[in-house]
Amino acid sequence: QTTLKAKAKDPYPDWKAGDPVPYAALCTTFSLVEMTSKRLIIQSHCSLFLRQVLRLTPDDLLPTVLLMINRLAADYAGIELGIGESLIMKAIGESTGRSLQIIKQDQKEIGDLGLVAVKSRANQPTMFKPKPLTVRGVHKGLMDVATTSGNGAQQRKVDLIKKMLSAADGHTSGKVDITKDKGGPSEAKFIIRFLEGKLRLGLAERTVIVSLAQAMVCHDVESKDASKVPSTEQLAEGESILKAVYSEAPSYDVIIPAMLKYGIFELKDHCKLQPGVPLKPMLAKPTKAITEVLDRFENQTFTCEYKYDGERAQIHYVSKDSKLQYAGPASAAKKTEAGLAAIFSRNSEDLSKKYPDILAKLPTWVKSDTKSFVLDCETVAWDMVEKKVLPFQQLMTRKKKDVKIEDVKIKVCVFAFDLLFLNGEAVVGKSLRERRELLHEAFTPVEGEFAFATSMNGQEIDEIQHFLDESMKASCEGLMVKMLDGSESGYEPSKRSRNWLKIKKDYLSGIGDSLDLVVLGAYHGKGKRTSVYGAFLLACYNTTTETYETVCNIGTGFSEAVLEELHTALSAIVIDRQKPFYSHSSGNAHQPDVWFEPKYVWEVKTADLTLSPRYKAGAKDGLEGNGEKGISLRFPRFIRVRDDKKADMATSSRQVVEMYRKQESVTKSKGPAVDDDF
Ligand code: ATP
Repeated sequence: QTTLKAKAKDPYPDWKAGDPVPYAALCTTFSLVEMTSKRLIIQSHCSLFLRQVLRLTPDDLLPTVLLMINRLAADYAGIELGIGESLIMKAIGESTGRSLQIIKQDQKEIGDLGLVAVKSRANQPTMFKPKPLTVRGVHKGLMDVATTSGNGAQQRKVDLIKKMLSAADGHTSGKVDITKDKGGPSEAKFIIRFLEGKLRLGLAERTVIVSLAQAMVCHDVESKDASKVPSTEQLAEGESILKAVYSEAPSYDVIIPAMLKYGIFELKDHCKLQPGVPLKPMLAKPTKAITEVLDRFENQTFTCEYKYDGERAQIHYVSKDSKLQYAGPASAAKKTEAGLAAIFSRNSEDLSKKYPDILAKLPTWVKSDTKSFVLDCETVAWDMVEKKVLPFQQLMTRKKKDVKIEDVKIKVCVFAFDLLFLNGEAVVGKSLRERRELLHEAFTPVEGEFAFATSMNGQEIDEIQHFLDESMKASCEGLMVKMLDGSESGYEPSKRSRNWLKIKKDYLSGIGDSLDLVVLGAYHGKGKRTSVYGAFLLACYNTTTETYETVCNIGTGFSEAVLEELHTALSAIVIDRQKPFYSHSSGNAHQPDVWFEPKYVWEVKTADLTLSPRYKAGAKDGLEGNGEKGISLRFPRFIRVRDDKKADMATSSRQVVEMYRKQESVTKSKGPAVDDDF
């Protein structure tokens, strides 16, 4: 309340109503955020700043919020910067007249390219005062970098970055104490960090959402009566509205214009789940035993479904004769005979170019009175001759982009397990039993093209065991067990929920699940593996500190061909030294031969988890050893590359700690980590 009463201070007297938001003002906020780790203080800095934007230049609210969360557009727009560390170093060097060698040297010493940029600018004489950067200008500049393609794209990207950097203010007065104030509010620092994909402010997206809600509530209340301050209830209501709307329509491009037009309290009426805007899927919690499932769902009805081993897909559709408008960019959707349709991945990325065969067949399984829908399903490789599911590896051999239907060799069948929207209406709030009924009414199964996930509603342990065995015979990974009735069985977008449990057969006696880990480094191979990497350093992701915490070395589970492929892919993302947001033991003997950008996610199985001083996973989460020891994987084994996950979607440190704690007998009987099997 004190913060709310305080009228936003005016650190930028030159920023007049209607002027573009000065980028320097955003960087000042970033710098204030960077100096604290207290979430409430971070929140108040952000909401004060957003209030200022709303008061003076509401038109810039969208680019401001996007720059705050280190994004240029919604994921489904498919915009990627497409630059690595070497290009960024080149741009810093060229824009400040320093050699690449010196930049690399600085990077070795400082370890943060943002700060290298600050230091480089400090040494640069300012000949003339460039026009100050604005938030919308920086957003556009970064967008230009991302959309530059074709011949000579790399140099043109460097030139665009240089242009921004030369207009950015650094610390131009003498020496900079980058250890003391972390480089201060330097614009160059934050541009570089944005390009690197990590602002490293400890500013989680959920904090930005809460701040945005607060700022909007203040704005809406004050615009009715300038003497009023919003009540705690109004603030809480605003926050809950924005969170709910965001979970159903996670796109600021959709939400912010609607919020500015109708106000936050009316947002739910104007911004809803709608075909064209992919939502983050609901996820499941792992379990290790059928009895664990029974304990969880005690006295509640649940249902079991086969857990198909393919690729998660969300199919969105609006028929030609529907009254409903397709909400996403129509350019991203495919025109089918019957209407507009699109397929999105687990990541909300566009899969339509990968599965044109699914879209072409869509009219055969959509009933004629089904006018619009959003479907949650799994695409699975299908054996046309034997008429059965094929292993995931077969699906992997399909091309990822620009697939031509006539070239498709691996057929896929859609296995539908949930319905989120039907005929103009979101159905996520209905129970699973009701959603399933609607699902079965809206579509017609067509062999090898479209099927409903096989399900079983039996509640007895023997029935579940039998169903699990059947699922394995049908080449599935195990079972999904879901709450069937009541409000808890509603669809919870973006949540890893207790109302969905997964049982994977091979984990019944292990830790319950495989892990999806980021490749941070590698060791040169020996013997048969001399021309490739022989082993790799993997990490999980700590979502609170935004760091990658190492969790194991891995050298098992790779065929020679796979090692070669991985070598080619990883060689392109080698970096000179580890990123400042990597957390690994500092012992000399523990360092990998090469480090990589955090890009690839691999699925890995393990026998169990143990504590080790060599790794850092969960080390700060109150394990034994006061943060010296992290959790590590024993006998890890490579399963596959997870193309559908970005690095920050890897298994989180918290999940690793949860798995470790759930392990029946912890460490004592297990002995030291035995994961260095190379
Ligand atoms: P995993 O590695 O197990 O796929 P994940 O993190 O991708 O993990 P989880 O929620 O943990 O996702 O597991 C559920 C995944 O299983 C879904 O993302 C989906 O791709 C797949 N799946 C297969 N069959 C079903 C089903 N019947 N219901 C829900 N999800 C299913």
